[in-house]
Amino acid sequence: MKIAIIGSGITGLSAAYRLTRNGHEVVVYEASSFNGGQASTLEISGNDLEKAYHHLFVSDSHILTLYKELNISDELEWFKSSVATYTENNIWPTTTILDILKLRPLSMKQRFSLLLISLRLKLIRDWKKLENITAYDWLKNKVEKKTFEIIFEPLLRGKFGRYYKTISLPWFWSKLQTRVASRNHKFQEILCYPKNSFKSLIETLVETIESNNGSIKLNHIVTKINIKNNKVESINVKNSTEEKTNKFDSVISTVPYHILNKIVKLPDQILINSKKVDYMAAVVMIIVSKYKLSNYYWLSIAEKDFPFLGVIEHTNLIPKYRYNNNNIIYITNYVEGDHPLLSKNFNEVYKEYEPYLKKINSKFNKDWIIEHRFNKINYAQPIIPINYSSYKIPIELPVNGLYCANTAQIYPEDRGTNYSVDLGENVSKLIMKGK
Ligand SMILES: Cc1cc2nc3c(=O)[nH]c(=O)nc-3n(C[C@H](O)[C@H](O)[C@H](O)COP(=O)(O)OP(=O)(O)OC[C@H]3O[C@@H](n4cnc5c(N)ncnc54)[C@H](O)[C@@H]3O)c2cc1C
Repeated sequence: MKIAIIGSGITGLSAAYRLTRNGHEVVVYEASSFNGGQASTLEISGNDLEKAYHHLFVSDSHILTLYKELNISDELEWFKSSVATYTENNIWPTTTILDILKLRPLSMKQRFSLLLISLRLKLIRDWKKLENITAYDWLKNKVEKKTFEIIFEPLLRGKFGRYYKTISLPWFWSKLQTRVASRNHKFQEILCYPKNSFKSLIETLVETIESNNGSIKLNHIVTKINIKNNKVESINVKNSTEEKTNKFDSVISTVPYHILNKIVKLPDQILINSKKVDYMAAVVMIIVSKYKLSNYYWLSIAEKDFPFLGVIEHTNLIPKYRYNNNNIIYITNYVEGDHPLLSKNFNEVYKEYEPYLKKINSKFNKDWIIEHRFNKINYAQPIIPINYSSYKIPIELPVNGLYCANTAQIYPEDRGTNYSVDLGENVSKLIMKGK
């Protein structure tokens, strides 16, 4: 069978790997000049590094199995993570239960109730029962005002901007499940990061797909999926020199709905449902610094006036000797697709951020910066509203040969490379079953 895959992110590459291994003829078309999509890497100070911070959890079984299958599991290394929250002009560690019990901005009663509510949510097995309520409404009713304002509201507001009151509770529930499952018997969070960054996985997938006679075409934008008599017939593909029509038996789209809707006329109900999903963009600044900003890997900002959401100090997780003893610091933000930050450059955004970086560490100044990068990632985080399972779009669309496998179909889990691998495997199984 001849299959076109739109997008060479982890979903597209995983599907191509499975299908070519089973003898199918696969062409992956990728609009950009690199593979890996949101998990792609860049070179900075002589090292490969994700454009946006990435790690894996203990429960990420699909991707961990893929590493094994590809004979690259020696890439996987595990590290103790450290987490903290910035509020009331201080950094408060929140890594262990003891840390929570010492969280001074909250009263002792509030600290206990925070632990109890997390435990209560953790023990819920059937997430479907949580589908008809937003995380905002549930948490606001369950904890005291101060706990909500310091812990939960900044988290929801920071990640989902103006949509923060609409996110369904299963999103929050699944985040908690993943993070708790990644803790060892001492309740210490353990995270995985590949020895040679996510580049080794992406490159190995590409090499394996090509050695199985699959082909990956970078700088090729799919502009149209042509349907005749409710069956996929061909796609239009544009590169820098020409636009061509190529015939295929099946097409897998891994792109967000906003893009898919521009290149194919979806059946009415699917179109309506796809329009119910919106996305946040990520704005990620990377700083290679002479010194560390804090002692924590993951620092959440719980102050409304801060212009960013978190600071992820990669080298507080991964030993910094790997990076010439420099410190790798990501400063991250999620913003709406029409946010003014998306049209600014590094210098403009740095100017906004600097006074707040100084609040985290008063000694911080521009002289610390050895090198920097600035990345904007569209459609970075789907916004999943309540009762989503009643209208989530299936992988197999009601058009013969047309399949859709994108981050908004990952539910109730939050999107992540582990679930992209699973999605890639599921879509290829469906295609092979339908053969
Ligand atoms: C800030 C941030 C932090 C993250 N942290 C983690 C983490 O710690 N751990 C983790 O596991 N995951 C993390 N993720 C999520 C993870 O990176 C994604 O869920 C995953 O990579 C999505 O893969 P995908 O293939 O489904 O989509 P994408 O990576 O978005 O791939 C889709 C591809 O389609 C291409 N495309 C679009 N339109 C066209 C077209 N018309 N023609 C051809 N190609 C097209 C795009 O260029 C892109 O390459 C993070 C994401 C972000 C943004």
